[in-house]
Amino acid sequence: MALSGIDIFKMLPKTNCQECGVPTCMAFAMKLAGGQAELDSCPYVTDEAREKLEEASAPPIRPVVIGVGDKALKVGGETVLFRHEKTFINKPGIGLLITDSMDETDIDKKLKRFKEIEYERVGLCLCADIIALKDTSGDASKLIKLVEKAKAMDLTTLVLISDSTNVLEEAVKASADLKPLIYAATAETVEDLGKIALDNNCPIAVKGKSLEEVAELIIKLTDMKVKDIVIDTGTRTLKQSFDDHIFLRRAALVDKNRTFGYPTIVFPCEMTNDPIKEAIFASTFVPKYGGIIILSEVEGHNLFPLALQRMNIYTDPQRPMATSEGIYEINNPDENSPVLITSNFSLTYFIVSGEIESSKVPTWLLIKDTEGLSVLTAWAAGKFVADAIAPFVKKSGIEGKVNHKKIVIPGAAATISGELDEELGDWEVQIGPREGAHITPFLKNWANA
Ligand code: SF4
Repeated sequence: MALSGIDIFKMLPKTNCQECGVPTCMAFAMKLAGGQAELDSCPYVTDEAREKLEEASAPPIRPVVIGVGDKALKVGGETVLFRHEKTFINKPGIGLLITDSMDETDIDKKLKRFKEIEYERVGLCLCADIIALKDTSGDASKLIKLVEKAKAMDLTTLVLISDSTNVLEEAVKASADLKPLIYAATAETVEDLGKIALDNNCPIAVKGKSLEEVAELIIKLTDMKVKDIVIDTGTRTLKQSFDDHIFLRRAALVDKNRTFGYPTIVFPCEMTNDPIKEAIFASTFVPKYGGIIILSEVEGHNLFPLALQRMNIYTDPQRPMATSEGIYEINNPDENSPVLITSNFSLTYFIVSGEIESSKVPTWLLIKDTEGLSVLTAWAAGKFVADAIAPFVKKSGIEGKVNHKKIVIPGAAATISGELDEELGDWEVQIGPREGAHITPFLKNWANA
């Protein structure tokens, strides 16, 4: 049974040393109880307490890590059914299927494209995460060759797929240092593959003919002390797979059924031959509980919308996305360049900086910390007002970078111009455009004035 924050607190060292990143042991206990912290963050928990707490503080869906280092993919760890209840935690991995029956040139092209396609959006990198390498020939050397090819391109987050235990054993031996996901234990192979997973410290997927069989496989693996498990429900139709994902999430979170408390792997690439449908099917599993989503192609037309959807769904709705406070140099400004100021809401920053960049007018952009609120909201909350902006401008160091004292505020915050004039003393406050689209003509006029 889950422990309360108070129960957990009683087992913590109570030194309030803050090494876990929160101010007190009590605050850490509350976060653990809410599934928002990991026990490993506290280095001082005794072994006895750890054993009790690990069970009690584990999120209802176990986080599973595939791969190593910076590129490792962490899936699972979710604590809510709906994103608006709190937040989703570990975004689903988007994967590309490569089989040993593909043409060599085709494989090279696919891997190259996988590696190269990425997009930047509000300061985040949107890209695919994992390569699924599939044996179709029963020849371990072919699968190992694919592993080597991926490794050579520094693509190290892998799923190894085969129906043959021997092929998987050989391929896992050749890549155990990369901690690949072994796919997949079935009723026939669960004991052997479970042992391979344990011996090589790798996560393993289970694939059943029904959810009952999936449960049996998971119980067998957990009896063997295998911890990192990923579920393939085995269905290859959108409707049934969707239903299965809802069932699994509800079973783990609502019914507290630990047997189903693992992330999933889903194969839209095996549900249809139509690339558009495949992308649409994949998009279904972004909000509805896919852990790893395997595609037959990773190209701009399917990756960008999926990765963008994933970014939106997995952004914490309680924490606005924010840019760091400071001075941003755009288009190599000098001492004569205009000075603009705006809030640190990421979307505001990227719209304003993008418009300035495309205007080609060298500009200083001051970003005021408004806790991620947009200009109007920050103004209403008292965070983008004269007595908050003026001290920031004075301390920012912008006075040493320009030979004028003119500052442009967003048109939406025109109402603060009088007060800001007074607070800033010898600075002249100018009112800029209300809309981002009007920044370019505004700056061009400024530059020509
Ligand atoms: S690291 Fe451990 S002992 Fe220190 S404050 Fe956090 S919970 Fe308490």
